[in-house]
Amino acid sequence: MTAHGRNGSIRVGISSCLLGRKVRYDGGHKRDRFATDVLEPYVEWVPMCPEVEIGLGIPRPTIRLQRGPDGTARLVMPSKEEDLTDRMRGWAEKKLGALDDMDLCGFILKKDSPSCGMERVKVYDQNDVPARDGRGVFAEVLLREAPYLPVEEEGRLNDPRLRENFIARLFAMRRWKDMEGEGVTRARLMEFHARHKFLCMARNQAGSRRLGRLLGTAQSGDPVESLAAAYLEEFTEVMRRPPSIRGHTNVLQHMAGYVSDALDRADRAELSDAIHSYRQGLLPLIVPVTLLRHHVRRQEQPYLLEQAYLSPHPHELMLLNHV
Ligand code: SF4
Repeated sequence: MTAHGRNGSIRVGISSCLLGRKVRYDGGHKRDRFATDVLEPYVEWVPMCPEVEIGLGIPRPTIRLQRGPDGTARLVMPSKEEDLTDRMRGWAEKKLGALDDMDLCGFILKKDSPSCGMERVKVYDQNDVPARDGRGVFAEVLLREAPYLPVEEEGRLNDPRLRENFIARLFAMRRWKDMEGEGVTRARLMEFHARHKFLCMARNQAGSRRLGRLLGTAQSGDPVESLAAAYLEEFTEVMRRPPSIRGHTNVLQHMAGYVSDALDRADRAELSDAIHSYRQGLLPLIVPVTLLRHHVRRQEQPYLLEQAYLSPHPHELMLLNHV
């Protein structure tokens, strides 16, 4: 099975301007090179420009978030003294109401935008002084309507750890959706859990155990749909945080334990050195992971062969080379 999952493609929503489309207020774009040059071959974009879709033209007067008398942030067009909050919210709710049909595995938002920005968007007070504590109106609806969707801003994706984690989550979401597509059963949930065990463990050991307990203690009479919903909620929480070096080291050592007995002394020392050097920051994660993958394949370890941890995303993206 490939990292792309069995059935669908990786459909990712994105603020249109990040793809180089000239939809910004000034007729320009904000092309993001990682999205267009690196990620593009692996995903199917679902571009959206909320401001254009609610009927504001290109170019258009600037809009911004402004603190209303009740303290909440409103989306306004100062030049026309127009409040666009309800219009934007109404459109976003309608659009995102059909989220299931869109089959999205994630979303990349444009930072700082009063519509698309996910965090620290400027909100102006009565005296025109901005505080960076807002969230774009479209982003707010997206995060509320799709709490399990991996969502990031393009700015945050410049951080190699956040980037790697986000892409790993996109591919995990594809596998989850493929599993759902086949029909959720207890056996399939167990299989999903087994496959993602080390991916979760690297991020949060306690969370990974909670996921196992959730499935292990479920009563046979419990509806499988509620079990899947509870699992997805916890899984999302665990996967949200990128793994630390310590988390990776734990998993690498744990996995090495499965293959070590069958290795000769030199191979065992090489693997152990690679893990140690990774922990010291002397080697990138790809080195011990590649070594492990090699031994796992050679020994045909079925449990480890299926682990998403060893191939969380296509190798050509080289995301493990930078963490
Ligand atoms: S940030 Fe969002 S609303 Fe603004 S131009 Fe880009 S896609 Fe359109």
